Amino acid sequence: MTDTRSADELASSAPDTSNNRDIILQIDKVTKHFDSAYACDDISLSIHRGEFFSLLGASGCGKTTLLRILAGFETPTSGRVLIDGVDVTNVPPYQRPVNMMFQSFALFPHMSVIDNIAFGLKQEAISKAERNDRVREMMSLVQIEKLAGRKPHQLSGGQRQRVALARALAKHPKLLLLDEPLGALDKKLREQTQFELINLQQRLGITFIMVTHDQEEAMTMSSRIALMHEGRVEQVDTPRRIYEFPATRYAAGFIGLVNLFQGVVVSHENDQVLIECEELPGQLLVHHSQPLAVGMDVSVALRPEKIRVLPGNDNQPNRVNAVIKDIAYLGDVSIYHAEVASGKRIKFTLPNVQALAEQPLTWEQEVTLGWHADSCGVLTL
Ligand code: ATP
Repeated sequence: MTDTRSADELASSAPDTSNNRDIILQIDKVTKHFDSAYACDDISLSIHRGEFFSLLGASGCGKTTLLRILAGFETPTSGRVLIDGVDVTNVPPYQRPVNMMFQSFALFPHMSVIDNIAFGLKQEAISKAERNDRVREMMSLVQIEKLAGRKPHQLSGGQRQRVALARALAKHPKLLLLDEPLGALDKKLREQTQFELINLQQRLGITFIMVTHDQEEAMTMSSRIALMHEGRVEQVDTPRRIYEFPATRYAAGFIGLVNLFQGVVVSHENDQVLIECEELPGQLLVHHSQPLAVGMDVSVALRPEKIRVLPGNDNQPNRVNAVIKDIAYLGDVSIYHAEVASGKRIKFTLPNVQALAEQPLTWEQEVTLGWHADSCGVLTL
């Protein structure tokens, strides 16, 4: 596949090991098992200062365990955690330059907003004057000054989220760990809060590490994502790279909709791979720069929005005739499922540009679908 990354994207997606000052957190071969089950299996990651980094994955993949190891609430079975080059693997949570915001927000119900925010500062024996300044600064930052005297049960979900955030930030941590920070909010408030959180993170320049199972949330908010699967890191990259160039079949399937075709490499010359695929008539042509052996089993990943409906089949590679079997209208786009002769279904999406398209595609309609060789990727893992 052609690497279309800009210099900036390349710089932000690859950990810069030549300049260790830029790395705030190093997770070095961390493994954690509970009895015989591995929650984290040999995880190594480098996270840069000022990043908004997400640990993304399905339920049970080990992301919360890893976050709790970073916070100091769990000790790894093996491996090390370094913050600013200092090994903190065995340092207790309250002595780490780290704070954690829990999914439940974990506010003290009997305390007012102001006392909740001040709580961690009191534990640190910070002077009363400085404490008051910091609490006021935090309340202003998340715009909750008017709620200072209220108790948590007198707040909405969104307001409680802001108090929890203010409390987590009040200690000026180097790293803020967020465990599904928007999980308790409804969809609309969630989307609005995503942008507030990004703006806040950029203004403060604090490194945020967020756990989420929501791929859209991770894609919207993160500078980089570590996609986890069964205790291991499947891929670490920018949201765009993970979507456009997934490294594995699992990554392709987890992020967004994808068509996966199983096939065998027939030839590979000058970055052009021809793949024979039982499920599709004709051959698939893919641009791919890594060497592939003839006869190798591979998958071809093709995103639904890369597919076009063509006026007729000119028997070029990457053209198939299909019959539309299902249509889902989603407002901005429609998703179509079209069946080829083998019974394989191909998903494709079309934007709903006009309110009433002149000739919308309909059930049982025969169509020719086509896509460019640059629009799909070969997966070997
Ligand atoms: P979710 O999104 O559902 O919270 P997760 O990706 O955060 O999932 P973890 O909570 O890290 O997953 O759990 C990873 C694995 O470790 C799971 O199989 C879980 O059952 C197991 N596990 C986690 N904590 C413990 C524990 N204290 N004792 C035993 N097993 C545990």
